Amino acid sequence: MHFILLSLLTVMSLHCPVSRDATRSQDHLGGVRLAYTLNLGPGAMHVSLDYTPVIPDSTVFKYGNFFYGGMKDLMKGLRNVSSEARFRVDPAAGSITFYHPGNTKFRITYDIIDTHRLEQRVVGEMFRPIITSSYFFSLSHTLFLNPVIRETMKDSILMSVKLEKGCTYPVFFTCAPELKPGEVADIILSDGMDALVTGASDLHIEKRELSGIMNYIVLRINRNNGYNLRRFMDFTDTFLPAMDDFWGVPVGSFYSLIASPFLDIKYHKISGTAFRGGFHVKYSGDTILADEEVVYTISHEIMHRYTGAGCVSMGEENQWFDEGFTDYTTWYLASECGVMPPEKLGEKVREAFRDLSANPAKNTPNEEVMKHFWEGKNYEKLPYCRGALFAAWMDKRISDLSNGTRSYRDFMRTLRAIAEKKNQRLSVNDFISAASGFIPDDEIRGAVDRYIMKGEMIPESLIF
Ligand SMILES: [Zn+2]
Repeated sequence: MHFILLSLLTVMSLHCPVSRDATRSQDHLGGVRLAYTLNLGPGAMHVSLDYTPVIPDSTVFKYGNFFYGGMKDLMKGLRNVSSEARFRVDPAAGSITFYHPGNTKFRITYDIIDTHRLEQRVVGEMFRPIITSSYFFSLSHTLFLNPVIRETMKDSILMSVKLEKGCTYPVFFTCAPELKPGEVADIILSDGMDALVTGASDLHIEKRELSGIMNYIVLRINRNNGYNLRRFMDFTDTFLPAMDDFWGVPVGSFYSLIASPFLDIKYHKISGTAFRGGFHVKYSGDTILADEEVVYTISHEIMHRYTGAGCVSMGEENQWFDEGFTDYTTWYLASECGVMPPEKLGEKVREAFRDLSANPAKNTPNEEVMKHFWEGKNYEKLPYCRGALFAAWMDKRISDLSNGTRSYRDFMRTLRAIAEKKNQRLSVNDFISAASGFIPDDEIRGAVDRYIMKGEMIPESLIF
């Protein structure tokens, strides 16, 4: 699992989506092993699971993921567990073990209730199920029981989800965006376990097909906040096509961008969580795009469709690329497409240069960065600034060396082509070999070694 930190405005770590092959077929997959039926009633989501065991005799299911928000009492939200099979609950481990004869199919039922409280602050609203008379929200890990089986096996077995008719408001499931009440959707288990379900009386879904891929923009819009719809769609209608233009066709067959207001949080502008095939934010107040920082934060997260845990990634030991290049590409594109004024790119690079120069941890070698990552803001911000400044240097250098006939975009597209061909993370050598098509080999090799690996501060004269 890959975690990254979101920029300054947010407090929690994220799980980024893993890229999916758009053409991936389900033909090679076995039948449905976990058939979920969801029935949203007042104050509870009633869940029924018909499970055909993968492992004979007993199965451990996990409920909740402590990493998300660090809350260890998530099982308080799981009630009325019942099954024809004998079972044992272990709240401390967040698990339930069911004892079943051989591989015989059996049924489990349970309820999910809302246990979020004001004192849990932001993480309570981001990572716990919320159920009110007009709003439902849950990430997969607090809705579906997740069998403890080999992770790779989860890529080849199916779960199904059916939403019972009769819910008083519309519900959106990120893994099956077109699912209607009464219908059943079959989903690869690993996708279904990294998703999100939300519903609201004022749920508003906009669809945009770009490059053959459907984008779902899911908001809460009512007669008091219609300006949000206009502003947010202006932003996405500008930024999403610009991303396609920069990168080419995205991975995956659909994408969801979900924004809804915090219920009780007034002191924190915006927080986000990535899931497979999309991104979710909660914002305070009645305006989603409250200011420039929020626009950048959301743009940066959308950019992770391609970089970071998207298809072009160098892994968490190379956050300078996964986060720093994501930042620079976000500024580059936002300035170019009109989401931000053209001079913003230069301003953001200057700001990153100032921040890095003033950062007491600035000379930390790359291999040491992750070891200190949780020690505070200095280490957390270091790879963002270092990578973004390196990207700024490359942008300038590629343009200078080619008299403006080649660009940073050409380089990033080359990198993407290599990543897709390799179909796994890029190594530092892959990065250098892609870059050496644009910058002489010994120059790029030396620059990566000094300004990234050894942690030397990149000279101002090289960037500006
Ligand atoms: Zn990021």
